[in-house]
Amino acid sequence: MWTSHFAPAFFLKPFSAETPLSLLALAGTLPDILWLALSLGGYEEIRYRPHHGCFPYDAKYPYTHSLLGMGVIGLVFGLFVTLTRGLGLKSFFAINAATISHWVLDVIVHRHDITLTPDPVSARYGFGIFDHPKILFVIDFGLLLSSLIYYSATAMPDNRRLQTKKLLTLGALFAGMQVVFSFVEIPGRQARLVHAPLFLLQLLGAVGMLDAIERRGDDVLGRVEKGVRRAVEGTRVEKAHDRKDRNTEKYWELNEIPREI
Ligand SMILES: [Zn+2]
Repeated sequence: MWTSHFAPAFFLKPFSAETPLSLLALAGTLPDILWLALSLGGYEEIRYRPHHGCFPYDAKYPYTHSLLGMGVIGLVFGLFVTLTRGLGLKSFFAINAATISHWVLDVIVHRHDITLTPDPVSARYGFGIFDHPKILFVIDFGLLLSSLIYYSATAMPDNRRLQTKKLLTLGALFAGMQVVFSFVEIPGRQARLVHAPLFLLQLLGAVGMLDAIERRGDDVLGRVEKGVRRAVEGTRVEKAHDRKDRNTEKYWELNEIPREI
């Protein structure tokens, strides 16, 4: 899964209001963040190999993508965060639930490579939805979208910094992330040194954006919204230019025919 790893943060936030959304999002995406970081260091692996569908990689991630590994990651991260930030037991459980949800979500889509323990002979799970990008998009982004709707409907008024319009902007950004993940292949075969850092940047960027939204609220989303609007307007202007150019070419083609005759 990709953007749906952010969904547990929005689902869990109403139950643990004191936990920052960005920390819950970090907990949900931590197994991927650690896998990509460990792959850079050569401790786990991401290797380019075209498959039918999306996610053209073979991966070895016994520590970050086994149920036991994720349990330990959630436990250590949950303890660290709740102790250093003075958060309560609810936060600890919410963070652990977000990290463990990663295993369940990955089993639904991965190609039979998610394990119970880091042991190489541990049973492997995965329903292979990666082979069906359109279905993946619907499930992955659908989960994220439903979590945004749930959050917007249930968040307590004093926590409701993200209003519906702003959630739509956030939804549009996540939709873009999911479109790229499901339908666009990163050029080249350098999975470890090029693809992994790009995926890592996307995840950390999204977590950072949630953090900035929580800290500065309206400012950040206002700017993001303006940026999206400008990008859309820019595309429209470019399209208009294209049309004009095409019209001009057609005009000269049509005008050249009588001259040649
Ligand atoms: Zn994962």
